[in-house]
Amino acid sequence: MTVRLLVASRNPGKLAELRRVLDAEGIVGIDPVGLDEAPDFPEEPEDGATFAENALIKARSGALATGLPCLADDSGLAVDALNGMPGVLSARWSGTHGDDEANNSLLLAQLTDVPDERRGAAFWSVCALAYRDRTAAPSTARLVEKTAEGRWPGRVLRAPRGDAGFGYDPLFLPEGEDRSAAELTPGQKDAASHRGRALRALAPALRELAAQG
Ligand code: IMP
Repeated sequence: MTVRLLVASRNPGKLAELRRVLDAEGIVGIDPVGLDEAPDFPEEPEDGATFAENALIKARSGALATGLPCLADDSGLAVDALNGMPGVLSARWSGTHGDDEANNSLLLAQLTDVPDERRGAAFWSVCALAYRDRTAAPSTARLVEKTAEGRWPGRVLRAPRGDAGFGYDPLFLPEGEDRSAAELTPGQKDAASHRGRALRALAPALRELAAQG
């Protein structure tokens, strides 16, 4: 039997990324569905102080509202010269949620005088999986929760390069690469990226879930 897995995202790119990781890990029996394909439910504000807290807020609320196992990721860019910011504020760094162009311009402006050797940064992702605990009494809403994190080190460029990807990809030069994250193919990005690493680290938990189907 196939297990429907709610992916707490409206980003088709994230769903596609999860499908590629499931294929690459040989995990069968999981059918990922996005928020747009699930019944509507009130989404909790992502007001956690860490990526893990936010990922768990999203995974728990999706699992409790729909009864489906739910996978959520929270991610962002931590810049050394900004003491780890934008961090959990990455999506709304310029003040408007999801305005990639404004976020990138602000980040570049903030780092204008920062020399190359101090432009270190890393993408972080925490992926959380939450599903009903079948061993608990049906009257309780107890959830099994698993999290995994991934880090992708690199540095912030002085100007955007490439037009694949999203977010801060055009400004991010991964360690050991001469192409920005926005110059990599989706497969190349998955193999190295923070989210690819976090999703692969969750593979045993996803395999366990598939086996329960
Ligand atoms: P989330 O979707 O709430 O996890 O927000 C993540 C934010 O962090 C995005 O809006 C981007 O600004 C940034 N981000 C996370 N992952 C990536 C990535 O792989 N490339 C570029 N930017 C990313």
